[in-house]
Amino acid sequence: MTAATLLDDATALGDTLVALRRAIHAEPELGLMTPATRDKVRAALADLPIDWREGPSTTGLVGLLRGRGASQGLRRTVLLRGDMDALPMPEQTGLPYASKVPGAMHACGHDAHTAMLVGAARLLAGRADRLAGDVVLMFQPGEEGHHGARFMIDDGLIDGGTGVWPDAAFALHVMPNAPHGQVAGRAGALLASADQIDIVVTGAGGHASMPHDAADPVPVACEIVTAIQTMVTRQFNAHDPVVVTIAKITAGTTHNVIPDSANMKGTMRSLSPANREKLRHALTQLAQGIAAAHGLSASVTITPGFPVTLCNPPAVDFGARVTQDLFGPEVFHRLPAPIMGAEDFAYVLERCPGAMFFLGMAPEGDDWAQCCGIHSPRMMIDETVMPRGAALLTGLAMRFLDKGFT
Ligand SMILES: [Zn+2]
Repeated sequence: MTAATLLDDATALGDTLVALRRAIHAEPELGLMTPATRDKVRAALADLPIDWREGPSTTGLVGLLRGRGASQGLRRTVLLRGDMDALPMPEQTGLPYASKVPGAMHACGHDAHTAMLVGAARLLAGRADRLAGDVVLMFQPGEEGHHGARFMIDDGLIDGGTGVWPDAAFALHVMPNAPHGQVAGRAGALLASADQIDIVVTGAGGHASMPHDAADPVPVACEIVTAIQTMVTRQFNAHDPVVVTIAKITAGTTHNVIPDSANMKGTMRSLSPANREKLRHALTQLAQGIAAAHGLSASVTITPGFPVTLCNPPAVDFGARVTQDLFGPEVFHRLPAPIMGAEDFAYVLERCPGAMFFLGMAPEGDDWAQCCGIHSPRMMIDETVMPRGAALLTGLAMRFLDKGFT
C-alpha cells in the first residue's frame, strides 16, 4: 500500500461519503435506537463480504471484515469505531440538507464519523487480500450520554460472545474549530470521566421570619456548593485535576416560606480512575458532614457516566507515524492537555489498547478558531476532509494488522 494510492482511492469515494453524510444529517436519530441510520450503513456496504452482528439492546451494528493476507506469526484483530446518534437540539445552519427532524441535529459530527467509517470499510474490503488480520467495524448509537458502547459490549457484539477482544481500537472525532485536515492526539488521558451528581439537603420548613423554628436547607446547600470548590483545591493534586460543577439548585416556592429541602444537580469530571473514586467519596462525606454540622441531613447520589478516555501511549505514537506517512510531517499535533469533555469510546479503551484522534474540519482558509464548535446549533464541517478520515482509519487498521504498534 502506498500512501498516495490509499489517499487517491479515498478521495475517489468523496462524493459517496458526502451523499451518505448528508442523508444521515437530514434524518438525525437520538439515543440508543437509530434504525434509519443503521439501515443506511447496511445499504451502503451491502455489496461487501462483511459478517454483521446486531442487537438486542440498541441498533448498534458490528461488521466483521476478514482479511485474506498472510500474517507473520500473530494474526491480529483491530476495531474501528464510528458513532451514529445526534443531539436533542434544533439546527440553525440553514444548510440545504439541514435536519428535517424538529429538535434533533447532528451537531457533534457523528454523521461524518459514520460516513468515514463506511468509507474505511470499503477501502479495507478492497484491500482484503493484503489485510493480515480481521477488522471489527463498530457502528454505535447512544454516544451522547446513553452508554451505547457499553450496551454493545454487554450484548457481546464486539467479541461475538467469545471474550476475546480486538488487539487494538481506534476512533476519530471531527473538530470543526480545529485546523483543516490536521490530526491531534494525546497519550494518556484524552477526555475526562463524567458522573452526574444529585444532592438533596433535607431540613424542616417553616416561616421565613422564624428560621430558629425551622431547619433551613438553603444556607446549607449554599455552604456545600462553596465547600466543594475548597475540597477540589485542598484534597486533589493540581497535576491530576478534577472539576466539580453544581449546575442547578432548586429550593422553595415563595418569599416567606422556608422549604423542607433543597436539590442540587451537577457534574464531576476527573482524569484518572483513582481521582474519580476519591471524588465520589469526598463529595459524599463533604455534603453529609456539612448538613450534619447544622443538624440537617444530605443524601448524595452519584450516577456513573463515562469513564476516563485513556489513550495507550504506543497507540498514539503509532497513530502519529501513520498520519505523517499518509499526509506529511506537519499534520499530527500532540495536545498539550486533556479536554474535560467525555466520550463513551472510553469503554472500548478500557478493554483493549488504542486511541482516539481528533480531525480538524474547519473550512480551508477560514479562521478555524472562529468556527462554531461541536454541540453548537450552527456547527458545520468541511466535508472535503472526510476522505482523509476514511484514509486514516484504513491506514491505522492495515498497518496495525501488519506490524502491531511498531
Ligand atoms: Zn461526539
